[in-house]
Amino acid sequence: MISNIKPFEKKVWLSSPTMHDGEEMKYVKEAYDTNWMSCIGENINSIEKTTCEKIGCKYAVALSTGTAALHLAIKLAGVKRGDKVFCSDMTFAATVNPVVYEGGVPVFIDSEYDTWNMDPKALEKAFELYPDTKFVVVAHLYGVPAKINEIKAVCDKYNAILIEDAAESLGATYNNIMTGTFGKYNCISFNGNKIITGSSGGMLLTDDLEAVNKVKKWSTQSRENAPWYQHEELGYNYRMSNVVAGVIRGQYPHLEEHIAQKKEIYERYKEGFKDLPITMNPFDDKKSKPNYWLSCMLINKDAMCKQQRSNTEATYVSEQGKSCPTEILETLLKYNAEGRPIWKPMHMQPIFKDNAFVKVENNAVNEDIFERGLCLPSDNKMTKEQQEVIIEIVKNCFK
Ligand SMILES: *Cc1c(COP(=O)(O)O)cnc(C)c1O
Repeated sequence: MISNIKPFEKKVWLSSPTMHDGEEMKYVKEAYDTNWMSCIGENINSIEKTTCEKIGCKYAVALSTGTAALHLAIKLAGVKRGDKVFCSDMTFAATVNPVVYEGGVPVFIDSEYDTWNMDPKALEKAFELYPDTKFVVVAHLYGVPAKINEIKAVCDKYNAILIEDAAESLGATYNNIMTGTFGKYNCISFNGNKIITGSSGGMLLTDDLEAVNKVKKWSTQSRENAPWYQHEELGYNYRMSNVVAGVIRGQYPHLEEHIAQKKEIYERYKEGFKDLPITMNPFDDKKSKPNYWLSCMLINKDAMCKQQRSNTEATYVSEQGKSCPTEILETLLKYNAEGRPIWKPMHMQPIFKDNAFVKVENNAVNEDIFERGLCLPSDNKMTKEQQEVIIEIVKNCFK
């Protein structure tokens, strides 16, 4: 341990819910007091409208989770059993699981180093290998927009439907256009650790009214217009609760403030680490404005100490002047701060061991970023002083 640094008394989290002095409670209480305690009500109407206004989509449907929104997006796109779907590879499993719910077969696409997101060149190569593929699911990792115009151009060239997983990137823009508006069907999430939260929740975004009507029907058990419970299609219980919507309604006015806080955190790390052999998770500062959901770092190749990861365990050998994600994460934990490894690429996951993976070069970019990168504590409520301590702790790992 570093002689003058004591562990944090209260844990410093990766990214925990940030509430605002009863503003959320006001709407939750309104739902309670007026007895709109189900999946209909003013809170739901309000946040659907706010989402359309803020994001610039025509329609937004509030659902129980981002995963549910992705599932219905996959259904809308028309993915059928055996259909290949090109998916982001370095992402949370929720990006790709819904493809499998519908019997689709994810084909994983490697990332590029500029944004850590799906590489348009690798996507083009995938279409050359599997020209009949009609679906692409792209995630904007850690709040940094993918090269979405290039990706969309490739999709258009091959007549494929683009679905955006903007679960991590609410409020982030590319060429001043919000993520969540580039695909045909898109999803956002209000999960507890996202930039704003309802404790849980998600939304499907689209400009297609027919799709909206389908999603509203499917998400409430697919009832037909009849005097009894009549069913012609498979249904789901995926609509958002008006109570959860109340929390989101209270959070929405703070979205820009949360982004500003996260940006400060990112910039403080960048400045604090300027003498270390590392880089921060990158973005194109001419084209994109991230929402800075998580600050991440990548250790230079020649500053990596030896690190070994099996399917369930990690070990490392500490070395002077060098470090590795395992050392940094374990050290942060000793001081009661929470970091996280980079999302382990889907093509490295045992469950997807038989799925195809498309990369441009011999070495997979994603395997390299997973090996050398990590997510730093990025909680809105972390104080400047606490962050300075974290910077010291990380610097010390390289001593
Ligand atoms: C959080 C997340 C989701 C899923 O959202 P839930 O609301 O938790 O279901 C999907 N994709 C990515 C990339 C996420 O980070």
